[in-house]
Amino acid sequence: MKSHVLHRNSLTPPPRAVSGDGIYITDAQGKRYLDACGGAAVSCLGHSDPAVRAAMHAQIDQIAYAHSGFFSSDAMEELADDLVAHAPEGIAKAYFVSGGSEAIEASLKMARQYFLEIGQPDRKYVIARRQSYHGNTLGALSVGGNMWRRQQFEPLLINASHIAPCYAYRDQLAGETDVAYGLRVANELEAAILELGAGSVAAFVAEPVVGATSGAVAPVPGYFKRIREICDQYGVLLILDEVMCGMGRTGTLHAIEQEGISGDLQTIAKGLGAGYQPIGAVLVSQKIDDAIASGSGFFQHGHTYQGHATACAAALAAQRTIRERDLLTNVVKQGELLADGLHDRFGQHPFVGDIRGRGLFRGVELVADRETKEVFDPARKINAKIKKAAFARGLMAYPMGGTIDGVRGDHVLFAPPFIVTEDDVAKIIDLFELAMNNVF
Ligand code: PLP
Repeated sequence: MKSHVLHRNSLTPPPRAVSGDGIYITDAQGKRYLDACGGAAVSCLGHSDPAVRAAMHAQIDQIAYAHSGFFSSDAMEELADDLVAHAPEGIAKAYFVSGGSEAIEASLKMARQYFLEIGQPDRKYVIARRQSYHGNTLGALSVGGNMWRRQQFEPLLINASHIAPCYAYRDQLAGETDVAYGLRVANELEAAILELGAGSVAAFVAEPVVGATSGAVAPVPGYFKRIREICDQYGVLLILDEVMCGMGRTGTLHAIEQEGISGDLQTIAKGLGAGYQPIGAVLVSQKIDDAIASGSGFFQHGHTYQGHATACAAALAAQRTIRERDLLTNVVKQGELLADGLHDRFGQHPFVGDIRGRGLFRGVELVADRETKEVFDPARKINAKIKKAAFARGLMAYPMGGTIDGVRGDHVLFAPPFIVTEDDVAKIIDLFELAMNNVF
């Protein structure tokens, strides 16, 4: 059938999804797919959650949308109350947007405006990490360090500096302890700040657990404590990007809770609305809120759909459902089963270099050689082949080719809905094995 949609891949338009039940999606041909990655770590409640659907219906029946330049809504206010009540220490407000890239854009502008409000107009530089992804809009792409995504658009990007990621599998030296490695790479932030000029850096952006470029890479202990210290020492704002790893995905509501620090700004999206509506947010610390409130009183930013009432109602219902059904306990339990199953089945696989992650956020790194960790030739498109082989067998797994200082690596990310059972996890591993056997 001819499609007039400009799809991501014009050569092979995807099948049409016609219905969802639990963790499954059914296409127009009646084929069922087990969603083992929540799309892109989005659909944390599966595809037919009754409470979220009911909340959306109720909101639409009252009022679907009212522009935030004129009105607030109960749904927006209650969602902000809920998020702030469960937020990391120091968070005072929630600023709503429609997705992850918008959340990053808003956080960058909020950081810049904060320094204008407090009389430090020279602070304009942003530092982020290599092998990172923070979104596809130009500001978000600029801070991201994924060369494959950036390459074509370099001339359009704003200036941002990049330091090493915290990626122990690749970069930890032989004999180096986790703590020493964490300090070494965190200290690159200090060096970058000093090089740019201590008074000219506005913010450092990082994902607590890296998703879309490296496949669930968690930091080593102490890394984020040192990052926090450096930010505090040099007056730099810490922006934590929890768009993918946040909202329960790693077993705690916020991934950063496991590091014992909090950010000045924190972006959330994906799991926030569980895919029922497009929504994201910036969680804003008291000091930034105070600076804007007692300064100009007006955040110089905005989007037509920010704080969309139906999106807020969906997100509120999703977050309440996760709590009421104690789904984070299931995230931890099933996450461990998933990790154990992946280790049992693929721990010795000749082309599996690393299996890692937290909660229901697990990555498998594929390598051409386990001993040397040599990456596959990008031309072989290993991750795309795995995706295709899995999809043909009715499994959705999220493939990635990240970059390691410009060299691509292959990863597969599993981020199934929080409602998965032990049987579902076993099925994910069986189907993944079929896909791996097909490719290798
Ligand atoms: N930040 C991170 C860490 C992400 O993984 C993504 C998307 O994958 C984004 C930002 C961008 O979010 P969106 O695609 O909703 O714009």
